[in-house]
Amino acid sequence: MIDFRYGFIGLGQMGSPMAANIASRGFNLSVFDKSRGAYQSIENVFLANSLKQLAANTDIIFLSLPDATASLEVAQELSETTELNASIIIDLSTIGIDASRKASNTLHEAGVTYIDAPVSGGQSGARKGTITIMWAGPLTILEDCRKVMMSFCKNLFHVGEEAGQGQALKILNNFLSATAMAATSEAIAFGITQGLNMKTILDVVNLSTGQNTATNDKFPNRILTNTYDAGFKTNLLTKDMQLFIESARLSETPIVIAEAVMDLWKECNIALPNSDFTHIYKFITANNKE
Ligand code: NAD
Repeated sequence: MIDFRYGFIGLGQMGSPMAANIASRGFNLSVFDKSRGAYQSIENVFLANSLKQLAANTDIIFLSLPDATASLEVAQELSETTELNASIIIDLSTIGIDASRKASNTLHEAGVTYIDAPVSGGQSGARKGTITIMWAGPLTILEDCRKVMMSFCKNLFHVGEEAGQGQALKILNNFLSATAMAATSEAIAFGITQGLNMKTILDVVNLSTGQNTATNDKFPNRILTNTYDAGFKTNLLTKDMQLFIESARLSETPIVIAEAVMDLWKECNIALPNSDFTHIYKFITANNKE
């Protein structure tokens, strides 16, 4: 499979390290981002001037785009490209169930198979190649693509055959991650008022029943260090929470906790626009002092 020509669209916080890992394993890779600044840190790839140029010269294209609007726009543009050569689009973005199905239908009409394959593991995982991928699409295509997929991920799960199923898993995961981050911020804010030290709280909780991804990763590696640099923006996590709530409402499953957590992330996103999502801790402690 190493002979396929691959394309990668969207070289942001996740796309850039994922594309770098694909290229570093010797795969033939062309990349495109609408922002020229995104091209700076990528080596051993062909820099396409346009989406059309990339589409004409690749067999399999990855997308790592911010949201549903971007993925649907790119899916539409690719489907209308007369020079389109690629027959498989693997969308690594988090865009929600509905948009994923729409993108799949749009591309299907152009003779292209759309794979819904969101990722988890953060920017550090994307850099190290340790991310998890939730592949929803034909298993036969996954097997054909396994080599290239394993060049930038550690865990590749076939979660279903249909577009939208990967998104369902991803948004429920991010609801849990957003809840852990918000709840841990409240817990630590309380502990500090009792004269406890943040490191002590984390050391104890991480060997106790309250441990979670915020206590064992985000707090020790991004907040205790005062770097606030997880590489995931508050607005993107707020988008994921919104997608979870909308989909759970449609499924008529409970959203009591999700709505409370969502309110917090929405307020944080308004107060600290464009922030790294670890700033929720600053937001919660600032509110506490008011
Ligand atoms: P980002 O905003 O850093 O990067 C998105 C990139 O897409 C940008 O470089 C932007 O210029 C480019 N882009 C937007 N529209 C485009 C278009 N029409 N054509 C070409 N390029 C376009 O976002 P990110 O943090 O890298 O996240 C990408 C996706 O992965 C999102 O859906 C996000 O929810 C998901 N995700 C992010 C993380 C994380 O930790 N950052 C983790 C898991 C999943």
